[in-house]
Amino acid sequence: MPELPFIQVLVENLAPHVEGRTIERVHLTVAPPLDEVRGHTVERVRRTGKVIILDLTGDRSMVFHLMRNGRLQIGPARTRSARVARPSRDVALLITLDDDRELRFIEIGPKKRAAVYVLEASTMHEREPLAGLGVDPLSDAFTVEYLRGVLEGDTAQLKHVLTLQRYLTGLGNAFSDEILWEAKLSPFIRTSKLTGEEITRLHEAIRSTLTRALDEHRREFVDELPMKEPLHLLRVHRHAGDPCPRCGTRIAQVAYAEKETYYCPSCQTGGKVYADRRLSRLLK
Ligand SMILES: [Zn+2]
Repeated sequence: MPELPFIQVLVENLAPHVEGRTIERVHLTVAPPLDEVRGHTVERVRRTGKVIILDLTGDRSMVFHLMRNGRLQIGPARTRSARVARPSRDVALLITLDDDRELRFIEIGPKKRAAVYVLEASTMHEREPLAGLGVDPLSDAFTVEYLRGVLEGDTAQLKHVLTLQRYLTGLGNAFSDEILWEAKLSPFIRTSKLTGEEITRLHEAIRSTLTRALDEHRREFVDELPMKEPLHLLRVHRHAGDPCPRCGTRIAQVAYAEKETYYCPSCQTGGKVYADRRLSRLLK
């Protein structure tokens, strides 16, 4: 990747060519081009971690990365008759289907970070955003041995390691809290300090927490595409001050970076309550 001097010279030398000029047209080149999926049929919908994949006929896949606020909606096609499609500013992509319905990829809010890719199916796992993703915690490849290898190969704090997509794909801030509460483990413990018994417990907690949440989400969203995250299904995450569902102690909360961590001091940290200042020192 080019570094600072390279980029600086690029900026300096580009400036006299474009400063003061008004953009007349934009032509976006993507390979394969996005609209070449026209005429292809969706064969299968699946996911890897949090990435949603539509496998199409003809060695093509559409890959959706929702990030925080991206969502998929399905409904009657509103734009078929319109001469020019005028999607709202939240709509990033409209896919009209051959049954007069449309699949809308929307992103709510001012920050636009969601992404869609069209990739050759045969090489997609070497390309962004799939390249380098770790094991899916609901797949058969996620064994106690795999988890042990991950934890022994890193020395960072446990919660941080659980959320690294290169190890486990699909776990984020909320479910790492839920899992660690289930496993009665501190989010802040160094992975190298975990015993064999604790690693087995953690593996079981990852599986059971996700499996239960999956059942609950299926009941919550019968036949509809989920839009709003069902926070009421979480046991500790976003429950600061509420009684721990297991022991009744008030759930504690610490913040660092943009992330909030929730835990039960009695069940998870041997009674220790971490103040933000103390945590920032721990993180150094
Ligand atoms: Zn508790």
